[in-house]
Formats: sequence, C-alpha cells, structure tokens
Amino acid sequence: MTEQVSNWPPTYDDAYLPPADARYWFPEIETMAPTSREIIIFEKLRGQTAWAYERSPFYQRTWDAAGFHPSQLHALDDLHRIPVITKEDLRQDLLDNPPFGSNVCDDWADIERIHGSSGTTGIPTVLTISRDDWKRIGNAHARVMWAAGIRPTDMVFMAAPFSLYMGGWGALVGAERIRARCFPFGAGSPGQTRMAVRWIQAAHPTVFYGTPSFALYLAETAREDGVDPRNLGFRVLFFSGEPGASIPGTRRVLEETYGASVVDMGSTGEMSPWMSNGGCSESAGMHLWQDIVYTELLDPATHAVVPNGSEGVPVYTHLERTSQPLIRFWSGDLSRWTDDPCPCGRTYPRLPMGIYGRVDDMVTVRGENVYPSAVENVVRGSVGLTGEFRVVITRERAMDELTVLAEYADPGAAGPALEAIRAGLQAELNTTLGIRANVQMKAPGELERTQFKARRVIDERNLYGSA
Ligand SMILES: [Zn+2]
Repeated sequence: MTEQVSNWPPTYDDAYLPPADARYWFPEIETMAPTSREIIIFEKLRGQTAWAYERSPFYQRTWDAAGFHPSQLHALDDLHRIPVITKEDLRQDLLDNPPFGSNVCDDWADIERIHGSSGTTGIPTVLTISRDDWKRIGNAHARVMWAAGIRPTDMVFMAAPFSLYMGGWGALVGAERIRARCFPFGAGSPGQTRMAVRWIQAAHPTVFYGTPSFALYLAETAREDGVDPRNLGFRVLFFSGEPGASIPGTRRVLEETYGASVVDMGSTGEMSPWMSNGGCSESAGMHLWQDIVYTELLDPATHAVVPNGSEGVPVYTHLERTSQPLIRFWSGDLSRWTDDPCPCGRTYPRLPMGIYGRVDDMVTVRGENVYPSAVENVVRGSVGLTGEFRVVITRERAMDELTVLAEYADPGAAGPALEAIRAGLQAELNTTLGIRANVQMKAPGELERTQFKARRVIDERNLYGSA
C-alpha cells in the first residue's frame, strides 16, 4: 500500500521508489475518481483540524471566535464553516507571541528547521517545521517532481538563494527523496551567474530549478560567453517564485532557449509542501495535488467557491502538517481553475494558467485592471525584443499613464525599423490590456537583470500624493 490515511498524520515509506519507467509515483491516488479521493481528503482534514484545535492557541482563539469546532465537520463540504485566515492574521500572531507565534503545534524538541518568507513587505513570516513534517514535505515534493519527469538518474541544479526563502530548500528535499544528484548552487551573489554557466558545463546537470527571470538571465550570460543555452544539456526546467512558466509567451521562450520541457510549480512558502501546486510534463499550468494540500478557489468578495473555468483566490488547507498548519489560508493570489482532463491521466484539477497575479500586484489604471503577467506575455511574444521590460505608472493631471519600457534586441536597430518595433508592441499592448499604453524603447542590456524574483512594476503615482 502506497499511502495510509487511517492514522493521522500519515507516514510514508522512505524506502519506496517507483520503477524508473513508471509514470506515477502513487498511481492509485493520482488517477482515482475525484469523488473517491474526497473521502481520503476528508479523513485527513478531520485529523488535521482536530490536531490544530488541540495544540494551537491560534486556532483555539480564531475558531472559538467564529463559532467553529472541528466536530462540526461531517463532509468535505463543511470546510466552508472554517474561517479563512490571512497573512495579516499570522503577522499579528507573531507580533503578539514573538518570536514564533502561537501556532507551533509540535513539541519544541521535534522542530528541525526554522525558515521564513522572503519578507519583502512588513515583518517576515517565521516558519517552523518539525522533523516528521520535513520528511513528509520531501515525500510530497518527490511525488510531484516525478510527475514533472525528474528521475533518480538526474542531477538537479538549484539556482535559488539558500537562505530564509523556502523555495530552494523544498526543491532540495524533494530531489533528495527522489535520490537524484542534488546541486544546491544558490543564486544572487555577485559573479555567481557567470560561475553557474561554468559549473553547469563542467558537471552536466540535467534539471534546472529557479525563477523564470533567472533562467533567462542565465541564458543571456551563457550567450555572452559564447555558449548556446541549448548546449547546457538541461532536459527539464522547473520553476517557482514567479508566474513566468505558465505565461505562454515566457514559457515558449524558455522552452526554445533551452530545448527543455518547462514545468511550473509553487503555492507559497508558508504552505510547504509548496509543490502541492505542481505541473506535469504533459501540459501547461499546474495540477492541484488535493490530497497533499486541499485547495479551493474562492470569489474575492463573497468567499464562495467559484465554478470550473472561473477566476478566484486560491485558499489552501494543509492536510498533513503537524507544525504550524495553515487551514483555509487566503493566498491573495489570482488564478483560474479547470477540471478538464489532463493528457497525463492525473485526475487532479488544474490551474491552466498557473498563478498569474496577486490581488495586490494588480494595478488599476484608468479603471482597468492590469496584470504585469499580461504585459509580460505580450513582450515575450513580440519579435525584435530581448524580453526584458518595466511597467511604469504615473499620474499627470489626475490621469493615469501607463508606460512600458522594453529593450530592442538588435544593438544596431535605429530609425524606422526601431519605430516599427515600438509601434507594433504598443498596438499589441493596447489590444491586450484594453487601455492606451505608451512604449519607450531601451537599448539591449539597459534594464537591470534580476537574479531572483523580478519586480517589474514601478508605480510612481504615490509620489504625487494621490490616494
Ligand atoms: Zn497532467
């Protein structure tokens, strides 16, 4: 038997490995009818909520205040009785109960790791993970990475910062569990990208992990050194931290640049195993591995589950975390879901466009919602450009102006040829975004490259004291 849920929390056989030619890690659960899987999910949910209520002052307070008790769960549909929690709730709990908050449900002696969110805004979120949770995260990630086509014969090159950021660590434990060769190279130090090209040429890794921005920067650096990125020898590229791998234009550029298959992954560090949103090698977007972390897509205003095909906010529920479980965690991201069948045969629902935005990344310009990922898709899909860009929003006489700065690819481009590239991009953006955008061309290499998560939107409206 591959997975036992009669006891909570589940334990996994750490000696288990499918045959290398097997398509699935756990064939039964990955391909079963969703309604049958819901029975397993519900059993796990009962175990998870009972544990959290017993061990976590955070949930005792929150659920008591909302009039919820785990005994009220009689079917998976009862999930809606549980109040949604937000990142703000977690931050407040950390402030009130420093330094680790009141949701560390395991005995302190069982905590193996302290991690954190990248903490770009506000106080960082502190993550504690127990020894057994870490093993379960490794097992979950191995299962999803297997679906991405990663096998024990591979070597996985991890170009992500090994610091507070959770991404690289989660990829590492999954690759270790698959028994692949792991190369936790890191990213972000001066000169490290050039060094990465040399190490990749020397060591011949077959799998790349990092952010899409960094993979494109690595390719540029390789070309500067006279190396065709296709000759770096990657078979699979898998990504998290940015939406790029599910943005069609960016995905195509990544596939063509490296001649490799591109797989998108990732919910958010707090939700580790964050690969519970994880793509397979046979279609774009990501599967929702519902028996690892249960995900709902909710209407941002009413909190009702949105229908198949619609846009909503992913709300995540741990099903096998004993340390710091998050139950109905409001991600603030935006996505669209479908239960259309996937050629891979897995019966998990999918996010065919990945996580394409955050409610707070979205900028409203003259009343229209603009997603940076939509701009990226147009820029990456246009000819004559390097693909690097910025979105600058200003306000002039109470009127929002959206300007896209984009680099042309040919250093010799000038005159009417350059104007044709500019005008072509502007026309395409106007059609896609539904508002007038200005386009300014920048010389190749003029915009700063990122070694981690890209920040490509510059909103200057606040400088003018606008609301
Ligand atoms: Zn699939």
